[in-house]
Amino acid sequence: MRIIVQKFGGTSVATAERRAQVTSRVQHALDEGYTPVVVVSAMGRAGDPYATDTFIQMATSIYKETNPREMDMLIGCGELISAVIMTNTLLAQGVPAVAFTGGQAGIVVDKNFGNASILRVNPEHMIQEMKEGKVPVVAGFQGWTEAGEIATLGRGGSDTSAAALGAALRAEVVEIYTDVDGIKTADPRIVPEARTIDVTTYDEIVQMAHQGAKVIHPRAVEIAMRRGVPLRVKSTFDESPGTLVTYSIEATAAFPEVRLDRIITGVTHIPAMARVVVATPDQEDEADLEVEIFRSLADAGISVDLINVSPEQKSFAIPERLADRAERVLTSLGLKPKIQRGCAKVSVVGTGMRGVPGVMANVVEALRGAGVKILQTADSHITISCLVRTEDMERAVRALHQQFELNR
Ligand code: ADP
Ligand code: MG
Repeated sequence: MRIIVQKFGGTSVATAERRAQVTSRVQHALDEGYTPVVVVSAMGRAGDPYATDTFIQMATSIYKETNPREMDMLIGCGELISAVIMTNTLLAQGVPAVAFTGGQAGIVVDKNFGNASILRVNPEHMIQEMKEGKVPVVAGFQGWTEAGEIATLGRGGSDTSAAALGAALRAEVVEIYTDVDGIKTADPRIVPEARTIDVTTYDEIVQMAHQGAKVIHPRAVEIAMRRGVPLRVKSTFDESPGTLVTYSIEATAAFPEVRLDRIITGVTHIPAMARVVVATPDQEDEADLEVEIFRSLADAGISVDLINVSPEQKSFAIPERLADRAERVLTSLGLKPKIQRGCAKVSVVGTGMRGVPGVMANVVEALRGAGVKILQTADSHITISCLVRTEDMERAVRALHQQFELNR
């Protein structure tokens, strides 16, 4: 069997017209001699009757607090509905199809309700049906724990389901169908002239996804990378080839237009962050306090980013929704944290920046030129990130996109 995994996002399965386009994608794969496995997200976006956010709103409007375990039972329903509807759509068009919950498809997850990780995939049941010529339609975003409980994978989790199935089934490719025609040099909602990246590496897309490019989930890219399964991100609604994500640009000599000289591949952003600055008094047990600060935050489930440590002060960024919790934790250590809400992180990502001087100079020049104040920065070998104020975020993204000539 030549297996292909085709994942369709929320907008792709939202209406009958769009589901017809999904059907023709599946039919096309069959015509090409592939054995397709379909993975679906919940239908539509917040406000639509069966969307994930609608279920969350429903639960929290009745009782403010819902246990994570029960919440997962509820929000996993969106994908189940979607899988059944999509199966019926395929059957009506004469495509033999069979719906699976994540658990039935063999996806085993840990008990971290709301943000579970996939432990392994036992695809035997699904393979049986595939051998009989049926197309499995799998509910994304969820799996079963060892005890058979439903747990969901967090935002964008259907991408992860698709990648895990692709890895387990040794698929030739995992196709991520969405409402944009590929991974772009920036979010097209902020930079309308952003270009579609034709081919790129796992490394770059893992980074872009971690730094906020929500077109694909970072864990999906990591799983695909580990097993060497190529990913293709493309639009359900047009014929453009989309973005191929693979090992190395060099391995893609088939793409003559690829710009090997690019330094920056994309600009990303993460809204709703807060900056924390803690003055640490000069004292004997300074080292202990330092450990205590970061240990206590970690114990409270707060991951920190853009970390800057000096003897006099520690500063870092956290998700804005955790600002109150961080304040409590730090105050309980006898510290007086200064917390600045309303921040955002903008990043430039590119394998090509390795060892190239002047990238930071360009970042600073672009942001200063756009009147954007840099609150804090951090860099890794292929990323430079800056914390800015929320009201400057979009201007910052556009300025960086222009500075590195990404629309060319
Ligand atoms: P789906 O429901 O299909 O999974 P998502 O909303 O999760 O769709 O992802 C698609 C959206 O991601 C696009 O509509 C786009 O606004 C956004 N996006 C953010 N950054 C990028 C980027 N670099 N390239 C393409 N899309 C991006
Ligand atoms: Mg998504």
